[in-house]
Amino acid sequence: MDRYLVFGHPVRHSKSPFIHTLFARQTQQELEYGLAEPAVDEFAQALRTFFDQGGKGCNVTVPFKEQAFTLVDRLSPRAKRAGAVNTIKLTDDGVLLGDNTDGAGLVADLKSHGVTLADSRILLLGAGGAARGALAPLLAELPSELVIANRTHTKAQQLADEFCDLGHVTAQTYEQLAGSFDLVINSTSASLQGELPPLAPALIHTDIAIYDMMYGASDTAFISWAKQHGARQTMDGLGMLVEQAAEAFTVWRGIRPGTKQVLRELKRNLGVI
Ligand code: NDP
Repeated sequence: MDRYLVFGHPVRHSKSPFIHTLFARQTQQELEYGLAEPAVDEFAQALRTFFDQGGKGCNVTVPFKEQAFTLVDRLSPRAKRAGAVNTIKLTDDGVLLGDNTDGAGLVADLKSHGVTLADSRILLLGAGGAARGALAPLLAELPSELVIANRTHTKAQQLADEFCDLGHVTAQTYEQLAGSFDLVINSTSASLQGELPPLAPALIHTDIAIYDMMYGASDTAFISWAKQHGARQTMDGLGMLVEQAAEAFTVWRGIRPGTKQVLRELKRNLGVI
């Protein structure tokens, strides 16, 4: 049977095996999908061993995405732009192809929630790996402006400089942020510690759409905060997780699974519904 898995550390709580097993059942693909948690300095060896032993493809998550970028034979254009790899496929001619499906997953989830990206003013919080992966797919939707704000401003500026050939993208400090945004995407890891990015409440209004890449059984700290300040449309990153997985599954198997039912089952599994 064709073997896939996700590499991460820690990865025990990953929902990827659950999601891909449902995709495989739905599309009648014969495959198994597991977990691998190599020591941080043993990822390269573990990856090699997996493919030497007949593995067909894998996902890569924290903290290995940047390292995976350097270990594959070839990169997709979107992985090259992102500077990180979250999906690897062994091609028929034996090449390890590195791809990045995170940004496509984010955009697919935003669209499935009916969020309009074209001509919109987007605020992206954070300038880490997730922000980097999101930038090209977001800019491909032709927003009127995309502003990046990050705790360490120089990193936001660096990203804005790197992606300015793809659209109107600027960097501002949290204190400089002003005017009306249509969409705020929180790609910081602040919610992991129950913390908030230092965003002024005045930036939140009833018609703004709020997206937190983090997810959990209850509202993230950022979503709770945005609701308190009047935001009516809030979304967490669970849909992004399922959509990036669907994109990876399509890369591996050449068949696109449906995501709605799988997202529902995942929510049930997490106790969200
Ligand atoms: P990184 O570690 O690469 O980046 C973290 C970012 O968060 C940095 O910009 C950092 O700022 C900022 N940050 C951290 N703590 C705070 C804080 N207290 N206040 C303000 N800013 C803060 O992480 P990733 O980009 O890889 O991941 C970010 C988040 O996105 C995680 O929560 C992750 O779980 C989620 N994610 C979700 C996915 C999904 O499918 N739903 C997919 C990928 C990621 P600084 O530069 O100043 O340190």
